[in-house]
Amino acid sequence: MADVNEITQHLPGFNCGACGYKRCDLFAEALLNKEVKLEDCPFLLRERFKENYEILKEILEVSGISKKEEKYVGVIDGYEAEFLLKPLPNECSCRETLLIMDKKELKVGDYIKYRPLGCPIPHFAKIIDEYHGLYTIHVMGPCHRITKEEIEYKDVGIAIVVAFEGIVEGKVPEVGKTVKFIPKHCMMQKVHSGVVVQVEGKRVYIEGIDLKVF
Ligand code: SF4
Repeated sequence: MADVNEITQHLPGFNCGACGYKRCDLFAEALLNKEVKLEDCPFLLRERFKENYEILKEILEVSGISKKEEKYVGVIDGYEAEFLLKPLPNECSCRETLLIMDKKELKVGDYIKYRPLGCPIPHFAKIIDEYHGLYTIHVMGPCHRITKEEIEYKDVGIAIVVAFEGIVEGKVPEVGKTVKFIPKHCMMQKVHSGVVVQVEGKRVYIEGIDLKVF
């Protein structure tokens, strides 16, 4: 059975993070856990590392370790996304940043009801941050999970979702790339699009969110 050391010694050794992991040994561990595939290290596809690629492929095949091609497909429209966006560790949903037109007095800790522009489903959320008039929230769920009897919330009407932040399941995109993704908490499992503005390991911040994906 292959182990982390055996795999690491055949990886490029740049510890550059291009695969979404800070060091090659962490990438090796992810390979053993079938969380990634060899091709997620871009250097292994280059001529210089062709031999390493073949050796690693054989090691993984012999050990019965090779990641199945994961496909992320939107339930409603059937479009294919590049990755799933999961919550940050110990958080209940990905973070959404909202532009709220209704200027009710809102503060961190408040619960709100809103309908994202372009989405038919009312959302309930908790405000976790405020910055220059934009609110960062955790989505708490649809109405059956929070009722007025259980919790006081403010109805703010339509809100524009301007950004998402979370952890990528799948191939980590580069900064500046326009991506299609599915937020794990999305009640319709609909494909969203946006532009990646920040990447830190597998943590990404995506702005310019749009539900119109072709
Ligand atoms: S992309 Fe990952 S595995 Fe490849 S050299 Fe960089 S850190 Fe190592």
